[in-house]
Amino acid sequence: MEGKQKRNIDEITKCPECGSTQLVRDYERGELICNSCGIVIDESYFDQGPEWRAFDSEQSESRSRTGSPMTFTIHDKGLSTDISWKNKDSYGKSIPTRNRAQLYRLRKWQKRIKVSNAAERNLSQALQELERMASNLSIPNDVRESAAVIYRKAVKQNMIRGRSIEGVVAGSIYAACRITNVPRTLDEIASVTRVKKKEIGRTYRIMSRYLKLNIMPSKPDDYVNRFCSKLKLSQETRKKANDILKLARDHELTSGKGPTGVAAAAIYIASLMNNERRTQRSVSEVAGVTEVTIRNRYKELTEKLALDIQE
Ligand SMILES: [Zn+2]
Repeated sequence: MEGKQKRNIDEITKCPECGSTQLVRDYERGELICNSCGIVIDESYFDQGPEWRAFDSEQSESRSRTGSPMTFTIHDKGLSTDISWKNKDSYGKSIPTRNRAQLYRLRKWQKRIKVSNAAERNLSQALQELERMASNLSIPNDVRESAAVIYRKAVKQNMIRGRSIEGVVAGSIYAACRITNVPRTLDEIASVTRVKKKEIGRTYRIMSRYLKLNIMPSKPDDYVNRFCSKLKLSQETRKKANDILKLARDHELTSGKGPTGVAAAAIYIASLMNNERRTQRSVSEVAGVTEVTIRNRYKELTEKLALDIQE
């Protein structure tokens, strides 16, 4: 890819996935890692070998024509639900406009995707793996379907070569959850697969770039419902946490901070205010952030929003 300029990692100040400014540099590997969401922000993959280049579309088209293409449903294994046409996530919140466009493209891909014989062999195995991981993560059917479409797209773009099927499946699930506004953390996804968190983050970034997924950074609000259910908190506390986040956003206290850490702190505060106290440790485990992060966000929010909290 000549002429493609490699961006120096020193020029990047913000995580493109979650907007956090807490980035860790690994100069030896030329990698930049987001301390909040764990994504590897690696601008050097433009220089990687030819296995990462997509076939030009003509070549892959002709392959799928000669190779007696399988249609979407043959390997389906219970993944035949259509991607839902409603632009709401599973909690009834509307999906941001930019992600909506992406969902629309996924629906279009779903109609068109055919894969070659070579790819077919692994497809059924991959979809079983996808199904297994998704049920362990309690991912709704339409999100699974989006993940399956992304996976097929990755296969068609020849992105599996040199990568593990599991890693690409994990990356597809991570992407589908982000698009449909029910983001899972990399830790959560890593907990149901043998693939390491860092590898999932790296694979996701490459997929997102090659498949032009253009996914909006996630927001603290996207995590509140799920984290609160896991902590068995009441509706009122959930609402309180959302109110605190809104206030925090109005006071511009959320930008440059990892969304899971901000969500965790808001939930922690809401649990104290509503006498449903959860420990920082239990909130940190659910949110996949450290207790130190929760304490820092807690301090900023309570001080700047002048919240009177009895710990
Ligand atoms: Zn991030």
